[in-house]
This record gives sequence, structure tokens and C-alpha cells, in this order.
Amino acid sequence: MYQRIVIKLGTSVLTGGTPRLDRPQMVDLARQCHQLVKQGKEIILCSSGAIALGREELSFPELPPTVNSKQMLAAVGQSRLMMRWDSYFHIYGLHVGQILLTRSDLENRRRFLNARDTLLALLEHGIIPIINENDAVATEEIKVGDNDNLSAMVAILGEADLLLMLTDQPGLFTADPRTDPEAQLIPEVRTIDETLRRLAGGSISGLGVGGMATKLNAADVARRGGADVIIASGRAPDVILRAARGEPIGTRFPALEQPLESRKRWIFAGPRPSGQAVIDAGAAAALCRHGRSLLPAGIVQVLGEFERGDTISITDANQEELARGIARYGSADLARIAGRQSDAIAAELGYDRGPVAVHRNDMILL
Ligand code: GLU
Repeated sequence: MYQRIVIKLGTSVLTGGTPRLDRPQMVDLARQCHQLVKQGKEIILCSSGAIALGREELSFPELPPTVNSKQMLAAVGQSRLMMRWDSYFHIYGLHVGQILLTRSDLENRRRFLNARDTLLALLEHGIIPIINENDAVATEEIKVGDNDNLSAMVAILGEADLLLMLTDQPGLFTADPRTDPEAQLIPEVRTIDETLRRLAGGSISGLGVGGMATKLNAADVARRGGADVIIASGRAPDVILRAARGEPIGTRFPALEQPLESRKRWIFAGPRPSGQAVIDAGAAAALCRHGRSLLPAGIVQVLGEFERGDTISITDANQEELARGIARYGSADLARIAGRQSDAIAAELGYDRGPVAVHRNDMILL
């Protein structure tokens, strides 16, 4: 059913809740991937486990809980992680290729396209791309931070039709299954609303970074990008094979019917907004109801510092984010022309980069 699948493997799936990576489990995951490759499907792994494996490799050293310690552990663990995947996939005659990403690799459109080319080249040659965050060098500002969101970005980068997030729980429940015996698995989610976010809010899982709330965010990004998303237990027998053939398993989030086109997916997945334009009700209606561009006239306030070409968040007066898009003017200039008619731009700034502040082709509505 699905053709190109991103499989996100959380640390808890790889360790089975122990402090060590679980070899039979990883071999079994590789076996399932191989089955799919034999069926002509394309598999991209997004694998955590670098930090956990670094700890294991160094015999669980006592370290201060700093970013630096984690970076060191990741530097040790990432190469071991790849060695392991390499040897497990070799059992099935498959090659693997490593891609380490940070947010800054996805923020810049050119680098985004480069990363995509590498990914597609690996797939074309039947090689399994294995992706992780480049933890050893990524500082907080340029990090994605968790592999749930990273896997959603990878699903967009690789134009996958399924993002399978494997974790230590069977999916999303109506209540916390560890404390509430009435809790039921939610088989399908069509709208991600506040109630659902609240439900997901409380759950966390062992060694990994992301809990259910992060997974929900990531699922939202990926389904807007055009991929179905499934959250399921990495321990369920043949989970990858069953999800790939469309069997009901875990919690499924169907892709939105009209996925964003490629450039807009990038706006959504890549750049973090570096500023904000607060707009009035008239402009909000023009954007949201009539699909128009944002004109300077509709802007009441410009917040943050950004340059022309940066992604900004477009909000209403209540700070509700309505849209996100690429600014045609930097923050200082935009503040000067905010509230003005477009034909006054040249007189105000001494130059003119066109009548719109954010063009509708560079904008996604939220
Ligand atoms: N990149 C981290 C690692 O490999 C994991 C991050 C996460 O679990 O979300 O250890």
C-alpha cells in the first residue's frame, strides 16, 4: 500500500526499556525492512540511540548533565550505532548510508534540496538511509531537538507517503493506560485539537526525548506534508510489515487531502520563524478566506528581527498564528511601511521590492 516509508525508531524501541541496545530487536527490525525492500518499497530510517549507545560503550560514566556531555556521548555512540545497523542490514545483503542533519540544514532552501538529493540517490541505489540529528555538533539554537520532529521533516524531505513512528506504547490512548484501566487505544485521528493535545501532554517515555505531545506535533507536520502517520509499538510482531500493508495498527493520522506543494512543505518543515507580523482583521480575512498575499497595509505591528527572505509568523492581535511565510522585506523596513498603502513603499524606503509583504506563493495557512 505504501511505497516510501520513513520509520522513526526511538531509543526506547532499540533498548526495550533497558540501558542497552537490544540486538535481536534491531536485527528483527532490519529483517522487516528487508522484506519491504524485496517488495520494491523504499525505506528511510530515522534512528535514535546514539547517546544511549555512547553511554553503554563508555560503561555508563558519571557525567554532569550538560549539553557537552551529551555531545560527547553522541560522538562516541553515533559511529557505533551505524556499525551496528551496518552489520544487521548486511545479514540481509543491504547497504546503509548515514545522513546527520540539524535544523540549519533544513532551514536553508539550497541545503534542504542538497540533502534531498543525497537521500534520493541512496534510495535509487537500494541503500537504506539512516538519519539522526547531528548531536555531536548541534547547539541548542540549530537543533531540531527530538527525533519525532526530525522524522517528520525527513518525511517531508523525502516525500514519503508513510511516517511510521515506533515507540514503547501501542499508540495514543483516551487516557493514560498505565494508571487508567478504562483507557482505550485511539485507532484514527482526523483532527488534532486541544483535547487531544491535553491527552498526549502527560505521557513521557523512558530514555528518549519526545513524549506523545511531541509525537502529536510531528504527526501534524508530516500529515500536512502529505504523509500518513502511524504511531505504534516497536515491539508489536511484524509491526513494520503490517503498517506498510495498511493493516490497522496503532494510531493512524491520515494525510491531509490537499497536501502542501513542495516549496510550501519546506516553509512548514524547515525554517523556524524569526519574527512576527501582527495583522488586522481585514488582512486576516484576505489571507484566510480569499487566499490573498499579505500587504503592508494590513500589518499593525512587526516583532522580532528578520531579514528579507526569512520565514516569519503571521498572527492576529491575539497572537494566534494564522500563517507562516517568507518576508519580502526585512523587519526594520517592514515596520516602516506597516499600515501604509503599497504605492507608498518606494517613497518611504527609497526602494521597492514589490507591493506585498509576504506573497501567497510563499505562505502557508495554518
Ligand atoms: N538524537 C538522539 C540520539 O540519537 C535521540 C533524540 C530523540 O530520541 O529524540 O540519541
